Amino acid sequence: MPAKLDMVIVGSGPGGLSAALLAKQQKKSFVILEKGSQTMQGIIDTYPKGKKVYPTIPKSYPDPFPVLEIKPPEEKIPVEKYIEQAQAVVSENDLQIHFNEEFKSIDGTFPDYIVKTDKGSYLTRNVILAFGSNIPNDLGIYGEAKTVARNIENGEDYIGINVLVIGGGNAAADVVSSLSKIKREAKDDATSVFWAHIKETFEINKDTARDLGEEVLLGGHIKILQKAIPKIGEVGADGIDRLYIHQTTSSSMGNDLYMYQGMSFPMKNVIACIGTHGPSAIFDALNLQQITCTGAICKIAKEGERLLMLSRHLETNMNGIYAIGGAISPSYMEIGSDRMIKEKKHSNLIYTAVLDAKKVMNKIQQD
Ligand SMILES: Cc1cc2nc3c(=O)[nH]c(=O)nc-3n(C[C@H](O)[C@H](O)[C@H](O)COP(=O)(O)OP(=O)(O)OC[C@H]3O[C@@H](n4cnc5c(N)ncnc54)[C@H](O)[C@@H]3O)c2cc1C
Repeated sequence: MPAKLDMVIVGSGPGGLSAALLAKQQKKSFVILEKGSQTMQGIIDTYPKGKKVYPTIPKSYPDPFPVLEIKPPEEKIPVEKYIEQAQAVVSENDLQIHFNEEFKSIDGTFPDYIVKTDKGSYLTRNVILAFGSNIPNDLGIYGEAKTVARNIENGEDYIGINVLVIGGGNAAADVVSSLSKIKREAKDDATSVFWAHIKETFEINKDTARDLGEEVLLGGHIKILQKAIPKIGEVGADGIDRLYIHQTTSSSMGNDLYMYQGMSFPMKNVIACIGTHGPSAIFDALNLQQITCTGAICKIAKEGERLLMLSRHLETNMNGIYAIGGAISPSYMEIGSDRMIKEKKHSNLIYTAVLDAKKVMNKIQQD
């Protein structure tokens, strides 16, 4: 095994890269593990092609971006340019990323952890878990896993096809406006992007809403289906797996009868962007303490969900093991200096991942 490292950074997303840049400034020894083959593989895998990247700072955070190299520019560049920016930062700073190497487990105790991957092991004092949160939520519908997409792989595949996007947040909105633009620019495409959300109101930020509004004004065919509930998978007369969604038109007609207004789409034309859930199972396997939400303790997580417990420096119950960025979004349990534990909101944004890296590196520098 090579010499002991100051830290192993898991993931080369905005959080992992920021931690690496700060570690370099502090002259710490480190390796970055990336299970994919490219820098920011998580973003490459989840953003629609051409999606603009916003340098959003949540309202409750007054500070500017703490690591400017990772900040998306104010002029809102497409994701491909943002990836190029990150790749340039990696090569200018000579950050050695171990691509195609997947983090598996941690053995030992502080300050002598052994991080195991599918290719080898590293002796290290600290571990920064910056592996994002890209485990998609299930629609809970029979057959969905086989055919429902989670993102647009190739937008041109949807030209001439009525497509259904499910979800009420920014990721769904981005997919809707990207698809609408591709279809509109294809000129002869009279088909639509149907956008279904289970609730009446959509939760999207200002920048995303502006893009969407522009797309509608430019003639995009976007049809909004509020209170639309994905119901069942069915097999059509032609043997195609279909997804049926309905909007209730009457709560009850009496005598146990309900009337629904519904639509059915081939599952291969459905993209479900209904969020991701945290890597709770991975935290369990690492023996990191999580707290179950019960009663009124949690406002963001649901009853029964388990949230990682972290100090204000984002250190887990195991000294020297930290978790940052998407991996701890949308909320975690923070132990305050008074030892009180409360749920802490953590927006899944590039800014928060970068800020987290800064907090952790400040703590490591003081140790
Ligand atoms: C469609 C979409 C649009 C978005 N738009 C914006 C936006 O405009 N502005 C904004 O601020 N935020 C946006 N976000 C959110 C933003 O991308 C995330 O908050 C950010 O990427 C989180 O950074 P991270 O470093 O924590 O994780 P990630 O970016 O997910 O990076 C984690 C990395 O870890 C790697 N990894 C995972 N597991 C392992 C393992 N076991 N071993 C080794 N490597 C591993 C992954 O391959 C990945 O490269 C958007 C998100 C989505 C889905």
